[in-house]
Parts: sequence; structure tokens; C-alpha cells
Amino acid sequence: MTSYVFITGGVVSSLGKGITSACLGAILEARGLTISMIKLDPYINVDPGTMSPFQHGEVFVTHDGTETDLDLGHYERFVRTTTTGRNSNFTTGRIYESVIAKERRGDYLGATVQVIPHITDEIKESVARGAGDADICLVEIGGTVGDIESLPFLEAIRQMSVDLGHDRVVYVHLTLVPYISTASEIKTKPTQHSVKELRSIGIQPDILVCRSELPLPEEQRRKIALFTNVKPDAVISAYDADDLYKIPEMMHSQGFDDIVAKQLNLDLPPADLSVWDSIVEAKKNPSGEVNVAMVGKYVDLRDAYISLSEALLHGGIHTRTRVNIHYIEAQDIEDNGVDCLADMDGIVVPGGFGDRGIQGKIEAVRYARESGTPYLGICLGMQVAVIEAARNLAGLEGAMSTEFNRETPHPVVALITEWQDAKTGSVEQRTEASNLGGTMRLGAQEITLKEGSLAATSYGSTTISERHRHRYEVNNNYRDRLTEAGLVFSGLSVDDLVEMVEIPDHPWFVASQFHPEFTSNPRDGHPLFKGFIEAARRHREGALPKVKEA
Ligand code: GLN
Repeated sequence: MTSYVFITGGVVSSLGKGITSACLGAILEARGLTISMIKLDPYINVDPGTMSPFQHGEVFVTHDGTETDLDLGHYERFVRTTTTGRNSNFTTGRIYESVIAKERRGDYLGATVQVIPHITDEIKESVARGAGDADICLVEIGGTVGDIESLPFLEAIRQMSVDLGHDRVVYVHLTLVPYISTASEIKTKPTQHSVKELRSIGIQPDILVCRSELPLPEEQRRKIALFTNVKPDAVISAYDADDLYKIPEMMHSQGFDDIVAKQLNLDLPPADLSVWDSIVEAKKNPSGEVNVAMVGKYVDLRDAYISLSEALLHGGIHTRTRVNIHYIEAQDIEDNGVDCLADMDGIVVPGGFGDRGIQGKIEAVRYARESGTPYLGICLGMQVAVIEAARNLAGLEGAMSTEFNRETPHPVVALITEWQDAKTGSVEQRTEASNLGGTMRLGAQEITLKEGSLAATSYGSTTISERHRHRYEVNNNYRDRLTEAGLVFSGLSVDDLVEMVEIPDHPWFVASQFHPEFTSNPRDGHPLFKGFIEAARRHREGALPKVKEA
């Protein structure tokens, strides 16, 4: 029988509800429980796939190929359970879509379809389905208490404690406790108000997690408890941590998981958090450091590349390397050249859509290739590596992806339907077919790696599975010409699409059509990121042979 922990947020957004949920999941897992995790998102989009990263940060792709909220990435980095888009992320749009479909089918037998009970029932059913048979399901409710959009979700989770009994439900509320420096005072009032708001809709939180800059003094803890009807030891102080992976221990040491276990009448073995201690220790005591340039488009918004940035740091944890990530706007390289890359020990071009900065990305690849700087290209980063090789190694002038230039004489990257039947890749043959194409390749698929390639050596296997999120593919009609020019197609999908490329005549140049960052976690690291960071270290320490001058 599954019990539920609901995590709501108050005062302001961006307090780290996703991380709090993920850390609680990690601690409970370390106490021998099976965990499932769900994110409820109050916005009306059916999924975040169509939302700009500027709006919403990264789109996290689950194993089953669903475009979901970036919090699911936090969950997968902290807990062992793999989330599925189908069962781990529900938006208002998705809930309504399903209710409306049922109404059209006549499932409601003539009833007037209303928010309560039909929408709330749908939410409860979705949560129960998503919980599966885990011991505890952690359910994070997006948005902030008081938002109009969140109301049906809050009403549904309120009902769940009535339906299931309060010994199977825990309410955790995350709030902000600001420090007003001019008055040298810590303010508890926003927390009091936020809890009041929550109680006005019938939810009395059992645990408060208070975000603040510094640990919460005892006096404020007692004051918050008194005003919010929460026990003082259930007021957890989540003060700013210099390392994300310190948070499980920070929360555990204040008894967060004990309070949950007590309320749910669970008799659990003690938590073994040693894995998190060793991760923190590895980050704190590196044996070297590297500078890595991330040449992208959404560089001002760190959330847009959160899984990738984390994966690079995981590469650092597993090689005892401090990884300094320098976010570089591709457009700047286009405007001012590649000088900003001169001190870098590694260059990453991440995934992306749209043509802004594309030339800058191609220039970054060229610099990496010619200077012998380790290069890791991801999705669009692989496509630009192929374009660069086509132009500058194979002499295919004007080579481009049809995403950015439909008239290119050499569509080395294009929609499958644009090149599949075209032997020459000519524009005429492609145009009609291209109207048919355009569906996204999403989720985990099997990939075969070329024996002896850097990819196969890094993974230690010739069969791997990684997640995808893209539309355009390397045009197979150009493979021979690109191979002659020195590019190795080291990974192929079961249906013969290019998954990985590398350049053997280079210290470390690997790019993938898939997104390895979605399967990286701090405990295990990831072979590609580990290999890349090791190569960056060798580069920095001068051990890498520079490639020959072209
Ligand atoms: N825009 C490219 C495509 O659709 C790359 C996508 C990505 O990098 N995720 O194929």
C-alpha cells in the first residue's frame, strides 16, 4: 500500500521544491523504501515540449520519450527509480485533455462535468497510477500556493488524506524565510502567511521546510512552529548549500525522514548516506581542474542546460576534477571570433533549436578540431560537427542543415523524409517529401557502437541505449564522402541513422545525436562525460599531442 508525501511551495517560486523532493526521495530510498516521484504542473500546456527554455528551463526527456519538466531530472539524479513521462508528470492541460476526451466519449453518463469532482478525480487517479506499487510516492505540486492554477491540484491532494487516512499522507510545505539586512532581522511573516493560505484551503502542513541564507536560529524555528501549528522539530531549515549534494545530509541530520516515517507508522532501518558523503568529498578535494566552454544559445538562463551542466560536474566527481563551466553565447563567437576559447580545456556544443548563433557554433567546432581541444557535441552539437567537417574537411561548400537553410547545396543534415529516397540529395527531390516529415525522435533507443572506436572504448560496450530529442538526421547520402574526409561514424541506430561521430586524428573529438546528459547521475557518472573531462585534464596538463597543422 503506497503512502504519499505531498510537497507544496509558498511565498515565491524557485525555492528548490524539486530538489527538496528529490533529496527526501534519496534519503527514504537510503532507508530501504521503494520510491516513486510525480510532478504536477499547473500550467495549461499538455507537456512542456513546446515551451521555450527561456520560459521554462530545460525540457527533460524521460526513458519512455516524453518531454517533461526539468524537476524530473532532479529526481533521476537523486533517486534510483526511473521516471516515465506517462506516469510521472501531469499538467493541467493533460488532465483536462483526458477529462474532455472522457466527456466526448460519454463516460460521464450525462453528468455536468465540473472541476470538483471530475477534474479532481482525474488528478487523484493520475497520482494513484503514477505512484505504482512504491512504498512511498512523493508528489511535488508546481507553482506557489495562492496561484489560481494550482487550486484543483491542492484540492485533490487535500481530498487524498480524507480518502486514505492521515497516516498515509504527509504534507510538506516549502517557504522562504528572508533575512532583511538593513534591519538585521530574519522574517517569519511570509511563512506564516503562506501557511495561512494553505490552511484556508484545508491543508495543514505537517512539515515546513524553510529556505534561508543561513541556518534558522532556534528562536525563529519556535516562532514559526507556534504560528503555523507545526511541531518545532518539524520545522526544517534548508539553508543555502554550496553543493547540491550536501542537501540529503543537511535534511537527514534535522530528522526530516524520521518525521515522515513516524507519521506514516514506518519502522525503518537507519539511512546510509555514505554515497552522498563521498560525492561531496570528491567535489571538495579535486586533484585538478579544467575550464570547459559551453557554447550555446540560452546561456543567460542556467536552467536551460541544467542536466548537461550537472553531467559535466558528475564527470568531474568521477575524475576528481573541478569543472569550471564557462557559458559562452554562440552569437558572441559569430560577432567577435573564437579568442574566448583560447584558454579552454574542453568545448561543448549543446543541443538546440533555431538558427541564432549557428555560425558561431560551427566556428567553435572548427577551433576545437584545429587546435586539438577536446570536443563534446550533443545533438545539435553533433550536427554542427558534421556540417563543419563537410565544409572544411570534405570541401562541400555551403554544407548546412535544412533546419537553417532549405536551399543549401549540401544538405548534410536534414529531415529523414528529405533525404531517404533522394540519391543525390538535390533540393528538387527533397522539397515535396519534406512536407511529410517533422516528427520528433524521442526517448531511449538502442545504438550500436563501432568496435575499437573512442565511443565504444568509453562506454566499454558496443551496445548502448540513450535518449533522443530531435527532428533532423545526418543525411546518409553523404556518409561516404564524410568518411573519406576523416569523420568516423562510430554509432548507428538499429535503423541505420547516425548516432555518433568522432575524429580519430584528434585527441578527443566525440559527438552524439542523442542526449547522454539525461542518463548521467552523480553516483555513477557517465562514460562520455568522464572521458571528456579526462581528456580536458590531459589537455590542460599538456599531455595531449596537438593535431597536425592543416
Ligand atoms: N534542432 C535539431 C533537430 O531538431 C537538434 C535538436 C537538439 O539539439 N535537441 O534535429
